[in-house]
Amino acid sequence: MSHHILTAVAWPYANGPRHIGHVSGFGVPSDIFSRYQRMAGNKVLMVSGTDEHGTPIQVQADKEGVTARELADRYNRVIAEDLRGLGLSYDLFTRTTTANHYAVVQEIFKGLYDNGYIFPRTTMGAISPSTGRTLPDRYIEGTCPICHFDGARGDQCDNCGNQLDPIQLINPVSRINGETPVFVETEHFMLDLPAFAEVLGSWLQSKQGEWRPNVLKFALNLLGDLQPRAMSRDLDWGVPIPLDGWRDQPNKRLYVWFDAVIGYLSASVEWARRSGDPDAWRQWWQNPDARGYYFMGKDNIVFHAEIWPALLFGYNGQGARDGRPGSLGELSLPSEVVSSEFLTMEGRKFSSSRQVVIYVRDFLARYDADALRYYIAVAGPETQDTDFTWSEFLNRNNGELVAAWGNLVNRSISMAAKNFGAIPEAGDLTDADRAMLERSRAAFPRVAAEFERSRFKNATNEAFDVIREANKYLAEQEPWKRKDDPERVKSILHVALQVVDDAKTLLTPVLPASSDKVHAMLGGEGAWSGMPEIQEVEDLDEPGRSYPIITGSYDGAARWESTPIRAGVPLAPPTPLFSKLDPKIVDEELARLGG
Ligand SMILES: [Zn+2]
Repeated sequence: MSHHILTAVAWPYANGPRHIGHVSGFGVPSDIFSRYQRMAGNKVLMVSGTDEHGTPIQVQADKEGVTARELADRYNRVIAEDLRGLGLSYDLFTRTTTANHYAVVQEIFKGLYDNGYIFPRTTMGAISPSTGRTLPDRYIEGTCPICHFDGARGDQCDNCGNQLDPIQLINPVSRINGETPVFVETEHFMLDLPAFAEVLGSWLQSKQGEWRPNVLKFALNLLGDLQPRAMSRDLDWGVPIPLDGWRDQPNKRLYVWFDAVIGYLSASVEWARRSGDPDAWRQWWQNPDARGYYFMGKDNIVFHAEIWPALLFGYNGQGARDGRPGSLGELSLPSEVVSSEFLTMEGRKFSSSRQVVIYVRDFLARYDADALRYYIAVAGPETQDTDFTWSEFLNRNNGELVAAWGNLVNRSISMAAKNFGAIPEAGDLTDADRAMLERSRAAFPRVAAEFERSRFKNATNEAFDVIREANKYLAEQEPWKRKDDPERVKSILHVALQVVDDAKTLLTPVLPASSDKVHAMLGGEGAWSGMPEIQEVEDLDEPGRSYPIITGSYDGAARWESTPIRAGVPLAPPTPLFSKLDPKIVDEELARLGG
């Protein structure tokens, strides 16, 4: 039975390259999940892109003397390269500055507005007393009223993360000329979140027992204090407000949080338009059998378990004010919000400014993508905060990937290649042979059950148990000591190679590139699991503009089942699957970390 599965991956903010803490929260888990679901026969649509609006992008662009769009163009490209390098199998990784995204965001705004879930509110906005012109939020700085941090901005405090209004700042000053702004009445739009308290409450209650308990508990706690939330800002970088009298105002834009969460839908629409069937996205958003899984770090739970569902309920006309679905039709709510906890780096919080960081591209310049994917799967922040240490990375790489898995592959294939030049035929099987084969086959439903629940640590450990059993089987059967009994050696190696083939399949979601290698070493033809690529494409609605997307063809041969290996397939001597790391890398890497 094949299902449509939407994998909605959090949108990285385009103000710098990604570090391994970022990708351990949203990137690698979502890809493991998607690859497993495709192998199980489901129709996966995995979408995301760079989040490119908002004050921090504009502030950074001002600092560097470029436009916000130029800055976003640069980091969109850098981030796309990072994520492709990790083998993340997006069907579409796009961006929020496309004309398609603007149109979908404005449609959702209009649907909410028509159903009465958006209302205007007069607030106090800043103007420059010397020029009389509006001062956008980013040009106002002051002390945060909540945490008393000195450099808080007019819309947000980067220290405590709270949303602010410029008038709440203590001692506000203009960053342009240092003068104290004057506050005058200005109009903005608010999302009526309290109107969704009831529908959100019963929806979240229905997820008891399904979601990770930490996510559900956090989301239920938020319900106790739902306040109207500002949806627009005094800012010139963002999606214009699609109402008469508003759309042409240069200093009124939709708030970045509002446009970014709608990216899951707009990216699905863009993917469909590029596929040649503009309505294809509806299979994932309007089909009652489809399921949607959202992957993120825990700082994003509020947007995915509260605000995005509220927007969908409102667009569908299902909040306290009722209403009816907008022109796209009724849209599906998330089936599950899968949030990771935080990764720290050698006991400290990641910090780009203090150089307590390792960027994805630097990591990939020195180590295998699969080695990082493995670390994140078995030791990442799946259900609790965890610490990345270089010594643990070294130990897991050398002890588990090289000594356990790489060694099993290497010695099974090299013995068979050297003695028989091909996969040998099995003769009469002993009880030990049959038990080994049964152990390997039995792992498929068990590992599958863990992947289904996004328990990547358990899934990977179960697969490695099979590998450890197989190494033990070889040590006990000692095929290298049986030169006088080639028929028995054939059977042992046949069993070992079958288990290698099974383990390759079990590990494909976590280790796609090295599983492709094992597939080829065992004489498999064609692509096994498929890898992402970057394509330069034209904007669908803005002629002359092009940008890179991540996409790919992932319908390779990989299926979630044990496939009998074929005796007689020629085998060449294997190349090492993983590189053994020199213990001195630990000190080298620690020396690169700043204090
Ligand atoms: Zn603060």
